[in-house]
Amino acid sequence: MNPWMIGGPALLTTAVAGLAAYGAVNSRSQLFGSAICRTNSARKLALTFDDGPNPAITPKLLDLLDRHKARATFFVIGKFARECPELLKETAARGHVIGNHTDAHPNLFWLKPDQITVELRCCNYSIAAATGEKPRWFRPPFGYRNPWVIPAARELSQRAVMWTLLPGDWRATSSEWLIPRMKSVAENAQRNLAGDARAQNSANGAGDIVALHDGGHRQLNADRLPTLAALEYWMPRWRDLGLEFVTIEEAVNAPAG
Ligand SMILES: [Zn+2]
Repeated sequence: MNPWMIGGPALLTTAVAGLAAYGAVNSRSQLFGSAICRTNSARKLALTFDDGPNPAITPKLLDLLDRHKARATFFVIGKFARECPELLKETAARGHVIGNHTDAHPNLFWLKPDQITVELRCCNYSIAAATGEKPRWFRPPFGYRNPWVIPAARELSQRAVMWTLLPGDWRATSSEWLIPRMKSVAENAQRNLAGDARAQNSANGAGDIVALHDGGHRQLNADRLPTLAALEYWMPRWRDLGLEFVTIEEAVNAPAG
């Protein structure tokens, strides 16, 4: 018997499953629709924070960002936005961009189109109730997508935002563990901003988007002190290397004038 009669369909199934897994999980994959995966300049560094608002950490993070004159993007969970509307309002008022991170933080890979839309709409509603503005940016929980996620966001005029670096800060028990895991941002800046025109050209449109967490999706008041300590370490160093802290909006827009 021709072995392809047995192996062919199984191999094909494996290949399709592998491709689907890549499209669902890989942060740079465009397989299931277009997503923002980098800033548009090597000089621009976009810090993003997921799973808040978190009363235990977000106020401290806002002060830290102010001290470094930095603006960032917060992808918040709808159910936490309803618990802490004042904190969310303050985050927006201090110049940060608020994005949608769904209402209850499910793995969207398993959800049907109408369930995905409900997750997005409920979160939008809670953000708008607190800040007065509907978010234009969306990040899927765990980074998981299926073929309906990005079209559902687009239907609501929202663009999906992924990352170049996910240091895994939710696992960090100390800043000593986390700090080396954020080193690539400085290495990229050293390589791309060193004054070498050729390197700068090849890095065009290649700034980092770092995905960190000011909250925890399971409950409010998650401890993210190592994340704050690692930022205290890196932010002055990043600035000295010539990086500018930008929101996702600034990360994709051309500079004015
Ligand atoms: Zn999350």
